[in-house]
Amino acid sequence: MIVSFKIALRVLAFFLVILHLSAACSFAEDQFAHMRQQMVLWDLRGRGIKDPGVLSVMGKVPRHLFVDAAYRDQAYGDHPLPIGEGQTISQPYVVALMTEALRLGPHDRVLEIGTGSGYQAAVLSQIAKEVYTIEIRRSLADKAAKTLADLGYRNVTVKSGDGYFGWESEAPFDAIIITAAANHIPPPLIKQLKEGGRLIVPLGSTAYLQTLTLATKRKGELDVEQLCPVAFVPMKGEVQKP
Ligand code: SAH
Repeated sequence: MIVSFKIALRVLAFFLVILHLSAACSFAEDQFAHMRQQMVLWDLRGRGIKDPGVLSVMGKVPRHLFVDAAYRDQAYGDHPLPIGEGQTISQPYVVALMTEALRLGPHDRVLEIGTGSGYQAAVLSQIAKEVYTIEIRRSLADKAAKTLADLGYRNVTVKSGDGYFGWESEAPFDAIIITAAANHIPPPLIKQLKEGGRLIVPLGSTAYLQTLTLATKRKGELDVEQLCPVAFVPMKGEVQKP
């Protein structure tokens, strides 16, 4: 009798611990959701992002799960954060601005150069039909692919390689986003962009500031519009060759 009472007490204690842990987790998730809504309100809407689709998606994608645990508390501040290998996840405002500028529709297929953490790809995937994303650093590509799969973003395909050459077998794309600084637009990417397609890139000096540049393909030529100054990590590989 005493033995079974002791067992019953242990089982009860075990369930209480589980209950406590899951309550703590959902409290943390509520906190993150609250911080995310504040970010959308002040840093995105407050700074001029208007597209309701972009605002809604950025209110849902859990940016804190795309950074290491040590940075989770800072995930909804409007600044970049380290993601390893000297690279960064872009600040939320810039992610929103670039996504909005691409004017994506639900049938669009998008190519991203510079997967990094996978966060920008996750945001794009909730607005467009399919996202193909290329990362030059294999360890980052593998980590991002795992994060995206674990979180259930099934319409994103990640590969490791030099994004300068695009993704020939999946081309043409309705939109292309380059999330690393380049001093010119790689010609293979212009070729892989559909007529009427949009390409956005931080263009200029890779050592200092760049100009966020939106190019639209019309009759095979690029119509170029300069948006604002930005600072991105440099694109590596072929683009750097003289
Ligand atoms: N979009 C990312 C942040 C990009 S940081 C996010 O949401 O987290 C820029 C990334 O571009 C880095 O991870 C860097 O390794 C990658 N990169 C640099 N040159 C590249 C190239 N030639 N092809 C593909 N990726 C490249």
